[in-house]
Amino acid sequence: MTVDDVLDIAVIGAGLGGAAAAALLEDAGFTVHVFEQAPAFTRLGAGIHIGPNVMKIFRRIGLEDRLSGIGAHPDHWFSRDGKTGAYLSRIPLGEYAVREYGAPYITIHRGDLHAEQIRALPQDRLHYDHRLTDIREEEDHVVMQFANGATVRTRLVIGADGVNSLIREKLLGPEKPRYSGWIGHRALLNMDKLRASGLEFELCVKWWWEQSRHIMAYATKANATEYYYVTGVPVDSWEHEAGFVDSSREEMDAIFGSSHPVVNALIDATETVTKWPFWNRDPLNLWSQGRMVLLGDACHPMRPHMAQGACMAIEDAAVLARCLSEMGRESYRDAFKLYETTRRDRATRVQTISNANTWLKQPEDPAWVYAYDATTASLG
Ligand SMILES: Cc1cc2nc3c(=O)[nH]c(=O)nc-3n(C[C@H](O)[C@H](O)[C@H](O)COP(=O)(O)OP(=O)(O)OC[C@H]3O[C@@H](n4cnc5c(N)ncnc54)[C@H](O)[C@@H]3O)c2cc1C
Repeated sequence: MTVDDVLDIAVIGAGLGGAAAAALLEDAGFTVHVFEQAPAFTRLGAGIHIGPNVMKIFRRIGLEDRLSGIGAHPDHWFSRDGKTGAYLSRIPLGEYAVREYGAPYITIHRGDLHAEQIRALPQDRLHYDHRLTDIREEEDHVVMQFANGATVRTRLVIGADGVNSLIREKLLGPEKPRYSGWIGHRALLNMDKLRASGLEFELCVKWWWEQSRHIMAYATKANATEYYYVTGVPVDSWEHEAGFVDSSREEMDAIFGSSHPVVNALIDATETVTKWPFWNRDPLNLWSQGRMVLLGDACHPMRPHMAQGACMAIEDAAVLARCLSEMGRESYRDAFKLYETTRRDRATRVQTISNANTWLKQPEDPAWVYAYDATTASLG
């Protein structure tokens, strides 16, 4: 890449959505450069669910088998009362998901997933230490300015730059994401330590208390040696400047203590736990403008309670790649319109249910989420 080059497509942000977009567009025959602000790949210590809807997309990129081998395969998503342990719902996954939805449902360490996604990209077109600071459209291209002094020109830009997206701000004007009134605690636990309690730890279970407070707990490795939980707790305000801060076993105990013995064991086994604010925005009317288009959290961030935020970012990527492939890069306006028309209702529905935090609390049929296949669904 020299200063005089005009790239075909630039993706801003090598997160889960941006990495997927680059891989799918490369697969469709485009040459794609990815620009990421971080100085290098970072292995974020957290877990993530990947539904069959997205495993079908990973099949397309050639990652399904590897991810399947790394992640855990829960037989069910259980919902249970946090005090009594009574089952509120038992949603079948495992073999049922493969048969009915067309791919496995996995839970995995987020760093393991992201590492595989990054490894699948052409490394010479992945540019770390490139924080986008300004962007403007000129007659037949876009000029991007980076904090490291680089200026790069490109025909099209995909804004996969997350909840604080600069590209979204350029399209819509400054508007900070809203604090949702909820925080989450996140901790990785050692399964041997948990099992020493003599209790059974289900591979995927959401524990519920009043006001929809909850702990989602699940395994992150195929051999179930690592267990993870993320909570949802209503808290009036978030006063910290930092993206997350330390919490403690004592704080967990104050919120969730004296509950079902399995929950108490999770708290007892907690060594390090952090807490994170959840951010929100209203559904977006504008997904693209000119040569710039948004996907994932830059476009429709949501509270994580449906475990589908990254899945929606990756579905966005798959549909966007198909629209550009069908229409051709020169017809980007039509392609972006088709992308928005295809994605808006589904992403908004998932965003709304995530924010309401009702997903799978009672028995319900999740087929509309998990059976969807963004690689073949009709466009428009
Ligand atoms: C507690 C919690 C649990 C979750 N669990 C799940 C789950 O189980 N399943 C699920 O599907 N989703 C889950 N999510 C949601 C998921 O994490 C997000 O929806 C997903 O990461 C969005 O992907 P993205 O690519 O849009 O943004 P991100 O993953 O945030 O990536 C954005 C990237 O852009 C980069 N960037 C930002 N600004 C710039 C700039 N100016 N220049 C260059 N680079 C920039 C960032 O460094 C980052 O790498 C969870 C979220 C939370 C908070």
